Amino acid sequence: MDIRDLSVRELSEALEKKELSSEEITRAYLKAIENDEASSEPIHAYVSVRPEDALAMAREADKKRATGQATKLTGIPIAIKDNINVKGYETTCSSKILKGYIASYDATVIEKLIRDHGMVMLGKTNMDEFAMGSSTETSAYGVTRNPFDRTRVPGGSSGGSAAAVGGKLAPVALGSDTGGSIRQPAAFCGCVGLKPTYGTVSRYGLVAFASSLDQIGPITRTVEDAAWVYEAMAGHDPKDATSLSYTPSFTLKGDLKGVRVGVPREFILEGLDPTIKENLDTLIHTLERVGATVVEVSLPHSEYAVPTYYVVATAEASSNLERYDGVKYGYRAQASSLSEMYVKTRSEGFGAEVKRRIMLGTYVLSAGYYDAYYLKALKVRTLIKQDFQRVFEKVDVILGPTTPTPPFRLGEKVSDPIAMYLSDIYTISANLAGIPAISLPSGWTQEGLPIGMQLMGDTLAEHKLLDIAYGIEHVK
Ligand code: GLN
Repeated sequence: MDIRDLSVRELSEALEKKELSSEEITRAYLKAIENDEASSEPIHAYVSVRPEDALAMAREADKKRATGQATKLTGIPIAIKDNINVKGYETTCSSKILKGYIASYDATVIEKLIRDHGMVMLGKTNMDEFAMGSSTETSAYGVTRNPFDRTRVPGGSSGGSAAAVGGKLAPVALGSDTGGSIRQPAAFCGCVGLKPTYGTVSRYGLVAFASSLDQIGPITRTVEDAAWVYEAMAGHDPKDATSLSYTPSFTLKGDLKGVRVGVPREFILEGLDPTIKENLDTLIHTLERVGATVVEVSLPHSEYAVPTYYVVATAEASSNLERYDGVKYGYRAQASSLSEMYVKTRSEGFGAEVKRRIMLGTYVLSAGYYDAYYLKALKVRTLIKQDFQRVFEKVDVILGPTTPTPPFRLGEKVSDPIAMYLSDIYTISANLAGIPAISLPSGWTQEGLPIGMQLMGDTLAEHKLLDIAYGIEHVK
């Protein structure tokens, strides 16, 4: 048995039966991470790893297990995206501007998973700078490679988290999803990635990109693992003003008989890769074979999802990123006056994509353009939300591809922002609508690249969404 092949559930059972200790599991992962970093073409999933601290957490977890204070997650290692604060650890958001910034408090998800449940943090994972991107190439700390083909991207922005789970450098990881950043990299790295209903997981301690869209979620090997971790991290948090009172609890049965599945006709686009289309068709046949009803549905405003997102998200980002001025956090440029220091710090500290978004966001919020862009985008966002409400009167879940193409090559889209933005065409609308969505592994291309399929559920219908996902995972 290779420890690194085990799911969270299997690890938990082995810990419970005392077949393994958390220290052994943690050591196996730390060794694998070290070997990867030393290899000629590393996956490079992590931006920081503190092995001694991880082992200390593991020994603590083993003590908890020995004294009967364990939950099912105690002692399981987890990787954390580097935009989530862990007290005493650097939070860089893979940006030069936050280099050297040490978090002074724990995010609520960290308090829950690590402090309360006793999960073991393996390290902080690489990402696109400030979570802006779809390939992890905008990181200031080097690219992350796809574990299944080192010449390709792992997706983004939670590319480090997905590559860690897909590349067996962590059994589970946390990502954040503003427009697809959990689901798209999960699809590219052969993992399960869950973007929960907006407001179910506290954003306290998550570095804000676009506050009305951001949501933390798990990246795992199985649906059940995602359910376990989601259960442990969700719940009302008074420290997050947008937090809902919802405590999920799952019993996964996976019965697909009678389930109504809607496939939006707008998702079958010209740019959809034929292998992915074929994979979707096969899945539809399988679902029908086991007694589900698959119907075509329409989300008429989905063609506006990408432009709407790039107005709303950049507007919010331009405001959220105002705080990085060289005074309060991280990097500070040398200058002879205060205003020169602001300008130099931001010019040197932010990368090109972040600057592009700050400029775009400032523009759409400016006095002369607010109504034409920002206000208009908010109205279209409402129409997109209403499309979903209408469809969920008729179906239990919406099914479609997670991404229009399999993982693309490193460098392929870096100089073409629009092409990069379009890789989120299927994921973005769930964030605009606030609904939950999950990406599931759905086989491989001929070249051995992972394919992901996405299920979207109604607001707070995670139980239904995960149960159907569990059914699909087991039917094949
Ligand atoms: N790729 C999208 C973007 O670049 C989504 C990112 C995310 O979900 N954080 O904004």
